[in-house]
Order: sequence, then C-alpha cells, then structure tokens
Amino acid sequence: MTDWIGIGGLDARGATQFRVLQCIRDAGEISRTDIARALDSSPATVTAACGALLESGLICEVERAPSDTVQRGRPRIMLRINGGAFHVAGMKIARQAILVMIVDSQGEEIGTYTSPLAESQMPAEVLVGEVRKALEAACQSCNLPMTSIAGLTLGLPGFLNGSTGFMHWSSSVTERNVDFAPLFRRNLPCPTFLDNDANLVAKAEHLFGAGRGLRNFLVVTVEHGVGMGIVLDGELYRGERGCGAEFGHTKVQIEGAVCQCGQRGCLEAYVGDYAMVRDAATGRQGHGPTSIPEILEAARTGDTLCQDVLERASQFLGVALANLVNLFDPEHIVLARSRPPFGPPYPEIMLEALRRNTVQVDAPLPEITVRNLDESMWAKGAAAHGIEMVSILKIRAQGVVDAA
Ligand SMILES: [Zn+2]
Repeated sequence: MTDWIGIGGLDARGATQFRVLQCIRDAGEISRTDIARALDSSPATVTAACGALLESGLICEVERAPSDTVQRGRPRIMLRINGGAFHVAGMKIARQAILVMIVDSQGEEIGTYTSPLAESQMPAEVLVGEVRKALEAACQSCNLPMTSIAGLTLGLPGFLNGSTGFMHWSSSVTERNVDFAPLFRRNLPCPTFLDNDANLVAKAEHLFGAGRGLRNFLVVTVEHGVGMGIVLDGELYRGERGCGAEFGHTKVQIEGAVCQCGQRGCLEAYVGDYAMVRDAATGRQGHGPTSIPEILEAARTGDTLCQDVLERASQFLGVALANLVNLFDPEHIVLARSRPPFGPPYPEIMLEALRRNTVQVDAPLPEITVRNLDESMWAKGAAAHGIEMVSILKIRAQGVVDAA
C-alpha cells in the first residue's frame, strides 16, 4: 500500500464522506439536514456518510438547544470536526531552518518549532534525517509523543509532484530526480507527504488569509527564489506532472542571466534574493552588500549599482505580474515576500511596469496585495494539507473495515 494518495484514491462512498467532512469543516458546526442542502444530496446519503465518519472518529455530535419555535423542545443534533482525532505536523524547508507547526485535526495550533539547518542544500537522505530530528524536537517541545502524529507534510521549493512524492529539482537538495516516498517510509514514523511550498502558501491563504472565499487568485512568493500557487475555481491547480506554476522560471530574457535551476533568463535570476545579491556585487571594487537589507540601505545612501539592481528587479517583476494578469485574469494577486519592503520609488516602478504591460480592457486591474510573508503561513499550509491527507487515509481505512 502506498501512502501517496489524493482524493482520487477514494471510491465513490469515500469521496462522498470526504465532501461531507469538508462541508462540516467549512461550517464549523452543522446539522445533517443543512449538509444535505449545502451539497444538494439526499438525507439518506448524508446520514450514511456521517455514520461512517462518526465511526472513524473524524467527527462528533453535539447537542444544541432548539434555536427556533418550529423545533421547540427538541434539541438539535449538530456535527463538528473531532479536534482530538489526530495531530499532524506541517513543515517548511527554508534556507537556514526547518519550520514546524503541529496542529490538531481541527487545525488548531498546538505549537511551533524552528530546527536550524547547518547547510541550505543537502543530499535527500540527509534532509529526511533533519526532518526526523525536527519532528522529534517539535514533539518534545509540545509534550506530545511522536506516535500521536498521524501525518506530516513537507513544503519544499522546486519542481515536484505532490501526488507521487517525486522531486525533479529543488534548490534545497543536491541531487536531481529523487523519489522521496521510500525515503519517508524508511526514516519517518508516520505517513509523510510532499508539496511545492508555494502551493502550500496558496492553500494557507485560501483557508486562512487574503484568498478566503475567492474562486480565482494567485499567490506569488518572492524570497530566495520566486514561487507561485494558483487557485482556479476554488481548487489548487497543479498541472499534469505536478510541476506547473513555476513562475520563477518563466523566461524574461533570451540568453539572459544564469538561474539556480541551470537555465538562463528566468525571472528569479533577476528578482530572487540570490540574484540581486549577486548583481549588486558584480563590477564592484571591494566588498559589496551581501543581503537584501544591505542592498536597500546602500541604495538609500546613494549607491547607484544597488539602485540599478532594485530598479531592474522591480521592472522585471512588474512585467512578469502583467503577464500573469494577461494569462489568468485573477480576482486577486497576493505578492508575499519575506524580505523587508522596498521603499519608494520601487513599488511605483513595479506598478507602472504592470500597468503598461497589461492588456487594456474597460475593467479595473485585479486587486494586488503586497505583504510580508508571515513565516508561519508556510508551515500552516503544510499542516492543512496534512489534515486533508490523513483524513483521506482514515476514510479509506474505515472503508476497508466496513467491507470486511
Ligand atoms: Zn530557472
């Protein structure tokens, strides 16, 4: 049996249970009648699905006093997620640390933990060892036994297939083409899943942030590299091989600057942190700035090389965002970055490039939110993904019990 399943791994009955579970999760607390109404499903189908979910311990019943005169005297039986059903851990593999968040099955945060990394790039096997160490330390700091963690999702930058666990390339890993599934099975105590980190931020924004209630929006992350998560029609879009949405590696210059992926002219080879630090040091006598805050400070005090680097990055990002608007026509773009904000004149340079290059129609541009990337959003999105995957595993296991 493989742990690598998605909703596609469920049979028809399991898929109905999963839809009912999501409906209960969205509502917080809801009656069977209201679930049937919301899903346009028959009461018998909903009752059967709720029975199975109650048996697997994923949901529980609560009695509420009657809220209206029609039901006077009869308590209403409501359903909610059973927060004590299991715990999951979400992790973001960052450059200098692994960020861990442990949540319960309701998504309530139990605790967070940061496990430092000595290297920003390492062999896959070593990385999985670091993940195990981070999990152990996080459990210890939350006073939880490791056995209470029912699942773990890792967010990694790069090209990877979240439904198989196959990684084509990542800036965090020294090898290319790694099948993580057997490595996880050998080294980690619970089912472990993998997804692109920008996809997980999009998931967190959709569930908890600026994307709440939106059907079509994009999240662009700008840090060491540039990532993107696409939500279309309320669903995360992953592409056929699970490696679409590589906005950072869209080409903005023929035979342009060298990118960390090995190709030339990629967007992130101009706007990623590593590219800006590299460009700010080129053609300079003596030491140049070695970080984004130093580049910003040098530009502010009149360093023209740093000013040029910031101006060019802002222009490239504006043009690239215009391409996104032209392609997707989203309701909203969240531009999330971990670096300090670029002060004037750079945001205006970016917006001007965006306006100039967007196809003109008689409708306003999508809303664009520029915000500091709340570090916890990465791990929070990973934890939300873990809850979904563990729920699917439990629904599937209950189906096997029922069939026997
Ligand atoms: Zn690239």
